[in-house]
Amino acid sequence: MSTVVEHVLAAPSRYVQGRNVIQKLGSHLKSLGSTPLLVADDVVWEIVEDSLAKGFEESDLPVTRVGFGKFATAEAVDSLVETLRNGGHDVIAGIGGGSTIDAVKAAGHLAGISWASVPTAASSDAPTSALAVIYTDEGEFVEYRFFPKNPDLVLIDTVLVANAPERFLVGGIGDALATWVEARAVAKTRAKTMVGDAPTYTGTALAELSWKILWENALDALDAVRSRTVTPALEAVVEANTLLSGLGFESGGLAAAHAIHNGMTAAPQTHGLTHGEKVNIGTLTQLIMEGAPSAEIEDFIVFSTKVGLPNSLAEIGLTPEDQKEIRAIAEAATVEGETIHNMPFTVTPELVAEAMTVAETLSRRIRAEHGLPEPQLYRAQH
Ligand SMILES: [Zn+2]
Repeated sequence: MSTVVEHVLAAPSRYVQGRNVIQKLGSHLKSLGSTPLLVADDVVWEIVEDSLAKGFEESDLPVTRVGFGKFATAEAVDSLVETLRNGGHDVIAGIGGGSTIDAVKAAGHLAGISWASVPTAASSDAPTSALAVIYTDEGEFVEYRFFPKNPDLVLIDTVLVANAPERFLVGGIGDALATWVEARAVAKTRAKTMVGDAPTYTGTALAELSWKILWENALDALDAVRSRTVTPALEAVVEANTLLSGLGFESGGLAAAHAIHNGMTAAPQTHGLTHGEKVNIGTLTQLIMEGAPSAEIEDFIVFSTKVGLPNSLAEIGLTPEDQKEIRAIAEAATVEGETIHNMPFTVTPELVAEAMTVAETLSRRIRAEHGLPEPQLYRAQH
């Protein structure tokens, strides 16, 4: 048999973003089915119910909603599948955070019906993707589930994003900044992406566009969230965090930054940090490992400090003396099959541990040179 090399672009069927678009959820779901099941926890439901109900009435769709616990566990997914079958639902929509959305993706896939992501914050690039992360009741990672297709609909209301906690948007920016740094490494090696044997130029280009938009708009977008307003800068960053970063990571590929993030489960000091906060340490570590120009590393530290993202060991609860934990992170980040091996050179645990260690000194020096506050030690809450 001759070799097959697939270049794949994966994307949701429809992406809808904007002010008050939650009111249009009904009309978008109507084209996917007639008996939707909405999944949202009580806090989210309280916020969206009224504006959503109007649109459902106009579209002549019944409003059927079930609550959701804390984590996307296998049991939570199976219970949703049962609810779907008992109620004869033909489309399911997850409204809220990452866990709700992941459980809904997995349930929709198992039930063989259409599924929609309705994130209420721009805190990661997961909503557009064709994968879900399954956890235990205690919030420990169990497995990735990959689906043969992306969501049928992703709908994100920027008024909800503007009213969500600032830290959520900060995390989304951290997740999205990594996308270009990782995709350009994968573009060099033509290594595997999340969906294909090699990246598409489209995936790589969208990752770069996400990066450009963030550098121009992230700080202004954070001001918008602090004053609970929707500005063009916020709209731009929501699109970069959610759509561009989502397409960019899936079809452009991941490399060291996310692998180092994954490795941090090995260090309890880092627990409680958001996905994007941990990813940002991974991005800086990758830049150091690959020998990026010192001006680029300097810009990255200055910019991510202004955004409010950690770029030092202290800010993830570690010191350069914690070599045992740093080594454990580095070992976990370099296990076989991790995306860190998409880098254009051989990556060993030593390389990762040394880059992480030097990040502390580097970050402190550059922050001091720019009159930025020195890193504060993060303390994990148990
Ligand atoms: Zn991510």
